[in-house]
Amino acid sequence: MRELKLRTIVLATSAALAAAMAVSPVSAETPEAPGQGANAPTAKNIILMVPDGLGMSYVTATRIFLNGPDGDPLYFETLPQIGYQRTHSADSTVTDSAAAGSAWATGEKFNNGEASCHSDGLTCLESPPTILELSKAEGKMTGLVATSTITHATPAVFGAHSHSRQCQAEIGRQLVEVTGVDVLLGGGIGGNRDGYNCEQYPGQDPNSVLALAQGLGYTYVMDETAMNDAVAAGDEKILGLFTPGGKTPEMFRVDPEETYPLGEPTLPEMTTAALDVLEESNQGFFLMVEGSQIDWAGHANDLDYLLAETIAFDEAVQVVQDWIAADPAREEQTLLIVVGDHETGGMMINGPYGELSEPGDKIEDGWTSGGHTAQDTFIWSQGPGSSLLGGVLQNTDLFDAMESVLQTN
Ligand SMILES: [Zn+2]
Repeated sequence: MRELKLRTIVLATSAALAAAMAVSPVSAETPEAPGQGANAPTAKNIILMVPDGLGMSYVTATRIFLNGPDGDPLYFETLPQIGYQRTHSADSTVTDSAAAGSAWATGEKFNNGEASCHSDGLTCLESPPTILELSKAEGKMTGLVATSTITHATPAVFGAHSHSRQCQAEIGRQLVEVTGVDVLLGGGIGGNRDGYNCEQYPGQDPNSVLALAQGLGYTYVMDETAMNDAVAAGDEKILGLFTPGGKTPEMFRVDPEETYPLGEPTLPEMTTAALDVLEESNQGFFLMVEGSQIDWAGHANDLDYLLAETIAFDEAVQVVQDWIAADPAREEQTLLIVVGDHETGGMMINGPYGELSEPGDKIEDGWTSGGHTAQDTFIWSQGPGSSLLGGVLQNTDLFDAMESVLQTN
């Protein structure tokens, strides 16, 4: 409790400082002024972490389960800058993950289903560059980590352009052949789904994408040992596919009786491996880490699944926080953002009323939907550029913040 109060005071102080700086004229004395002049902040490394589908009730429910109503915050809750964002897409009040991710990736609103490409519904018409591609153009290494297929909507929008998120084999081809993302860790490579005009990309299936990647010099790994061996060997292009579809849910985090496949890396373990590779880059890196199945738990209205996947994601955030804290230069040079793309399920906490929960207790959940909702989502951040993320924002503003601190050499 004491610690929590202290942090509140520190937060209030830095918020007041940020407010004072926002109104003071830009000059040599205000080196933190975003995007202005030679002293504008730059970020050698950008790490975007996405708890897909996470609404504020998810945070409260997970915190109560782990630490009780009066206990410590989750790891990502300790990031100093907090804001929230509108999530609507170009054509829908309720967004899907492709349009929501594309808004972060490019700074533009897209129709639901589009992956960083404006389309006529059948073909790609215009593809603005993504923050991952812009980072690569600055000489940075790049990485995508997810618990879905690695070609699913959220990773797709950073390293590929497609009129439809359903053309997953084509998205996979672009990730390895066109964009050449250095580190790809997740489930499998998805196939092109019928009925979405993916036939315009002929001759592709997940196996051909895999063969293509190996021909392009990727080290292909299928389990944790091989992943760690590749990292230790200094391999700079790694494709880790650990399950045919989405990865195994990390249910053991809620129920100790649950087993997890021996040799399959968890989300925190994949995050560690990605950092071990990318930290070798002299020019820094862009890394996106997604807790993809938090959203799937929401679609299923499944509280245990939601708690397990949110805890796994939070431990991945802890891995990143520890990596940053290990070196003062990293603290100065790394922008870390944690943000959900939309809420899923309309989850609410209806109880217990009249008694106080204890650590280990599960809240009484209520749901309004099996799909996404239009609720605004929270943004937690730290590092250069995070002062731009403390307000009431559009999801497209996150691209502007990231783009403004991309280091130019
Ligand atoms: Zn989503």
